[in-house]
Amino acid sequence: MKDHPMSNIKIDEARLWDSLMTHAKIGGTPDGGICRQALTDEDRAGRDLFCQWCRDAGLEISIDKVGNIFAIRPGLDNTLDPVAFGSHLDTQPTGGKFDGILGVLGGLEVMRALNDANYQTRRPLLVASWTNEEGGRFPPAMLASGVYSGKFSLDYANDLTDSEGVRFGDALKDIGYVGEETVGERTFHSYLELHVEQGPVLEDESTEIGVVNGVQGMSWHKLTVKGRESHAGTTPMPSRLDAMAAANRIISVCYEQANAIVDAKATIGIIEAQPASPNVIPHTVNFTVDLRHPQDTVQQGLVRKMLDATAIESEIGFTISHEEVFRSPALHFDQGCIDIVRKVATDLGYSHRDIVSGAGHDAVYVSDVCPTGMIFVPCEDGISHNSIESITPAQARAGVEILLGAAIRLAE
Ligand SMILES: [Zn+2]
Repeated sequence: MKDHPMSNIKIDEARLWDSLMTHAKIGGTPDGGICRQALTDEDRAGRDLFCQWCRDAGLEISIDKVGNIFAIRPGLDNTLDPVAFGSHLDTQPTGGKFDGILGVLGGLEVMRALNDANYQTRRPLLVASWTNEEGGRFPPAMLASGVYSGKFSLDYANDLTDSEGVRFGDALKDIGYVGEETVGERTFHSYLELHVEQGPVLEDESTEIGVVNGVQGMSWHKLTVKGRESHAGTTPMPSRLDAMAAANRIISVCYEQANAIVDAKATIGIIEAQPASPNVIPHTVNFTVDLRHPQDTVQQGLVRKMLDATAIESEIGFTISHEEVFRSPALHFDQGCIDIVRKVATDLGYSHRDIVSGAGHDAVYVSDVCPTGMIFVPCEDGISHNSIESITPAQARAGVEILLGAAIRLAE
């Protein structure tokens, strides 16, 4: 680490990569991905190995009642709150080797590098592995960091069920990760999360580090358009009340807005017609709309335009119901954490740019309770939530070097 007072602290790229590849075997799929959904046997094995490595590194482990794992490296003054960093070890059913895992095992590498250099920070350091970030098996996503920050209650989490009817609380007990610690009782001085970008911006610009300023605002909408079912061959176009045609006009407005406004995004992920016959004009169309933008005012503008379009269809004679099923306002991370990440990237000579996260992360909820920042590294072709998700050993090391440098500064 050039130009840094702690220049004798070295991230071991080979050790970091070896840990990532060894851990990736747990739930590893033939196509190179990972299937390690929350609270499965694979999740348990992944947690066990991480805890073993933490103990080997001399870290003290504490687990809370929602299964979050905290591994602590003491500082010179252990009355002070720790500088925390981490992410998640669970994956999507067809997940990759780095989403979340880089942040956890990168955090462990920070601890190992400090051990090698025999360096003691003033504040303790803590690496966190949050339970059920992906939410694939037990929606919603970012569940346990949400319980930690007070967004959800522990009872709410425990009573969630998967598609087979298994309770979250029972599954957590079955894998042996119901800890003693009261959720949210442990406070952090600050929190950092290293993560793959999961998008193409850094790679397209050949930039090594993303200084994450925040997370874009997003909302999910469920719409139902009801018209009139009739014969596809005999009903003239002007006399139809075609629910699909109305849905199409509303959807077109969403796409037009998103294409016209910089950084806006619109996604129609689900669309279902009834009665679903090729020669019957559908009487009902259900669809979802996901609208995003880094600024809340613009994001809300997208929602308003969509609702204006539904109002026009209602006037024509369609019956339309709309429900906002999820909303997450735009978030700006702590300016101090953002500035430290940028400064460390500059000092270490990495190319970097400010970036807004397109996806949610545990850092979103943790930022409710302590100063928080995030570091992105590029991933190949911007692909994530996919078995082919890929980064290079050098990209992994770069991200962990920034994490180390930022953590040391925060801990002094
Ligand atoms: Zn993730």
